[in-house]
Amino acid sequence: MHSPGTTPIFVTGTDTGVGKTIIAAALASLLREHGFDAAPMKPIQTGAFINGDNRKSTDLDFCLAVNNLDPDPGVYRWMLPVALPRECSPHLAARAQHTAISPETITNALDKLCGIYDPVVIEGAGGLLVPLNSRHTMLDLIKRTGA
Ligand SMILES: [Mg+2]
Repeated sequence: MHSPGTTPIFVTGTDTGVGKTIIAAALASLLREHGFDAAPMKPIQTGAFINGDNRKSTDLDFCLAVNNLDPDPGVYRWMLPVALPRECSPHLAARAQHTAISPETITNALDKLCGIYDPVVIEGAGGLLVPLNSRHTMLDLIKRTGA
């Protein structure tokens, strides 16, 4: 679970292109204007750019740019713990890579971020009932983050 005293904020909304990224960026920006050291996290990016160890999320990069944040590669990796090249539902994008999304990978990365930033503004992928793997949905992930 995240560090004491920090409560992450989770932005969700059904479908792609409904405004989650804009809301997450604006929320982080508003919090920063009010003196909070807020930072974004995109725990799962499908349709991600991946080249060896280098991975990019356009959603995360937008939120970082809006907030004038330029994290080092290790911190960027915590902000983007799961990056999958195929652009589709997370569980299918993972299956296409012969892997499965582990909620622990995400909550471990969040713990690290919560040690640096307060609060972490998390942008989900798709809506609440999007499957992450055969057992967990986005809603399960939200519960685990304590957001
Ligand atoms: Mg988005």
